Amino acid sequence: MAWWRRTWLKLRARVRPVPEIPSSLWLHVLQRHPFLQALSLEEKSKLRALSALFLHNKQFSGANGLVVDDRMALTIAAQACVPLLYRGDASRAIALYDDFVGIVVHPGTMVATRDVHEGAGLVSQRRMMLEGEAMERGPVTLSWAAIDQNPTAQAERGTSVVIHEFCHKIDMRNGGADGYPALPAGFLGIQAAAEARKAWEHTWTQAFEQFRHAITKAERFGETAPWLDAYGATAPAEFFAVACEAFFVNRGRFAHEWPQLDRMLAGLFHWPTPPLHP
Ligand SMILES: [Zn+2]
Repeated sequence: MAWWRRTWLKLRARVRPVPEIPSSLWLHVLQRHPFLQALSLEEKSKLRALSALFLHNKQFSGANGLVVDDRMALTIAAQACVPLLYRGDASRAIALYDDFVGIVVHPGTMVATRDVHEGAGLVSQRRMMLEGEAMERGPVTLSWAAIDQNPTAQAERGTSVVIHEFCHKIDMRNGGADGYPALPAGFLGIQAAAEARKAWEHTWTQAFEQFRHAITKAERFGETAPWLDAYGATAPAEFFAVACEAFFVNRGRFAHEWPQLDRMLAGLFHWPTPPLHP
């Protein structure tokens, strides 16, 4: 986005008062999502403030005739803001999403043609079914059908397409989505940035290889698949986004299955360890 547009949007956000989220709507969205309902009172009140700012700053549009109503917009805003809960005060935390304004919601799964890199410089075009997509410095696209699934089943699986796409956006802050987001200063008590990055790289590379191996064994030999969306095995960026979903939606299970990644994500998002609400 051009600098003048960013500046203008920031000015506009400062000038216009941030409307409050009506209580009945807020309670409805909390009650529908077990992982939001499980937050402490303090976390819920911060999430409400963050969601109000988010709704104030972003522009929702529906594709294929879909009308994005307040309940849909808040369902997206509240989940998108969960990763920001411990990233400083609301206005500072929301800045992590200041590189884009538009959120496009499709009624169903999207079909898109994308370049697939086959290795050795070969690129082919494939039609893909997408539940969401995040563009670098561009809009986030989401499928409402993918968002509006059974919340209890999503909690058990540790999935949220909203968190997935917004964690790609966080990953993209320092370049493309690659599973290496910018780490906060003093990450896990490590002072030197290069050392912190090395610790991140080492842990994630090892976990990704272990996960890919386990998924291959499950697919080929029928062994029990690990608890985490198999889509994470397609690329390090997807593994990061899938791990973020599980961390925020079912932290108790995630911390049990992937303790080393739980430590990394708690360090990245400044979340308390051990979890306040496993
Ligand atoms: Zn993804």
